Amino acid sequence: MKQLQNYIDGKFVDPASGSYLDNIEPATGQVYSQVADSDERDVEAAVQAAEQAFPAWSTMPTAERSSLLLALGDKIEANLERLARAESVDNGKPLKLAISLDIPRAATNFRFFATAILHFRSELHTMDLDALNYTLRRPRGVAGIISPWNLPLYLLSWKVAPALATGCTVVAKPSEVTPMTAFLLSELCAEVGLPPGVLNVVHGLGPKAGAAIVRHPRIPTISFTGGTVTGAEIARTAAPMFKKVGLELGGKNPNIIFADADPDQVIRESVRSSFANQGQVCLCGSRILVEESAYATFVDRFIEATRALNIGDPLEEPTDQGALVSKAQLDKVQYYVQLAREEGGNIRCGGSIPDSLPERCQNGYFFQPTVITDLSIDCRVNREEIFGPVVTITPFKTEDEVVEYANATDYGLAASLWTRDLSRAHRVAERIESGTVWINCWMIRDLRVPFGGTKSSGVGREGGEEALRFYTEPKNVCIKIGE
Ligand code: NAD
Repeated sequence: MKQLQNYIDGKFVDPASGSYLDNIEPATGQVYSQVADSDERDVEAAVQAAEQAFPAWSTMPTAERSSLLLALGDKIEANLERLARAESVDNGKPLKLAISLDIPRAATNFRFFATAILHFRSELHTMDLDALNYTLRRPRGVAGIISPWNLPLYLLSWKVAPALATGCTVVAKPSEVTPMTAFLLSELCAEVGLPPGVLNVVHGLGPKAGAAIVRHPRIPTISFTGGTVTGAEIARTAAPMFKKVGLELGGKNPNIIFADADPDQVIRESVRSSFANQGQVCLCGSRILVEESAYATFVDRFIEATRALNIGDPLEEPTDQGALVSKAQLDKVQYYVQLAREEGGNIRCGGSIPDSLPERCQNGYFFQPTVITDLSIDCRVNREEIFGPVVTITPFKTEDEVVEYANATDYGLAASLWTRDLSRAHRVAERIESGTVWINCWMIRDLRVPFGGTKSSGVGREGGEEALRFYTEPKNVCIKIGE
């Protein structure tokens, strides 16, 4: 069985413990590979390699660093089908989603930051003619990067690319639940000739390998994407060490539909924003809020469109809904559907494990896309992140009421709103507590904008210059020029 080793100092190595964890294919429930079970010894080796690589990497002419990252982007594109298949097997997502979204976006991430760094600006401020102040931005050293399982290569590359572009070296820990594409990325790094130690990938469990990165005294920067509870734990460890920390955490995003919105577009896009990747996208709109006069029609049409989704083997072309990522995730989704029943919800479609699955998938972690109505806005199912194919639909009466509903969670990652009234769209967008608001669309991203969440959805922003600034340390230099 294939064993996914760590990638440290340009070499594939066994973990210090010699132990490996089982890696399960979610669509079958079967172990199909094993992944290094690393601990602080592996993290220490990775940090040493990253430290040794830092002086040369950080002073390499920017254009040369840029070329290497562009080459990595090209390599990912050249291996699109192989990487997409690996991600689909590892994660349970439909292969067509990995081919059309995850892997192309990983290539784009490297290309975007490879070229963004060529245009990165320093600031100069003149104090009349008395003094000039300029700001140098130097890479902060070794960056610790910890990423989740839902968009494994996409989210890992979204952090690794800006870190490397600025001249930082990296110790990365991908999710132990979906380690395969990070392992393949290590192979591609070796193929393009990325210098040893520039990117180190340490696999393993969060509380062991991940925590060892967070508390390592010589990793001054931590970039984390994952759950809010984990983010809080990371913040507790990193704060007294004065680390620079970026946290991209959970969401419970409202999808607001006014009665004047284009009904066909709203149904099509709401099904996508509810159930893409089986609802396991942090940006999914898991709370649909519909203006009262359009509510009944919307619910009927939405349920009809949801029932039409094809659940099946993620590797087969017709499949729209693959498997959830793990047994733990399936259990969590089932728990919340049961809770919805107890909280007075009406399960309008789905709500259980599908009864007809292909032979190969009989033991996989599948769940029907599920639509729930008649829950109060402040019940747990409407406030807590489920991160699965479950949406609630709630009617609202007024603009004020929907703003109150939209903001009635601890999260603040993203929101969508649908209306043809432009003034209202701007008004409501301004009042929603979230890092991103989409108007008449969902999940369109210009990589230059600052991306991230407010409230319990995180602190810090990634994207464009924000990311390049995150991995660099400003130093102000002041020159007196007057008398
Ligand atoms: P998770 O928090 O369980 O794990 C994320 C990563 O952290 C994994 O690599 C894990 O091994 C590691 N980890 C776990 N405990 C750790 C610890 N104590 N110290 C250091 N590292 C630790 O999250 P998950 O289940 O992998 O991902 C799902 C969550 O991620 C959801 O809440 C989702 O909303 C969130 N997410 C957020 C964004 C965003 O951009 N805001 C994007 C994708 C996913």
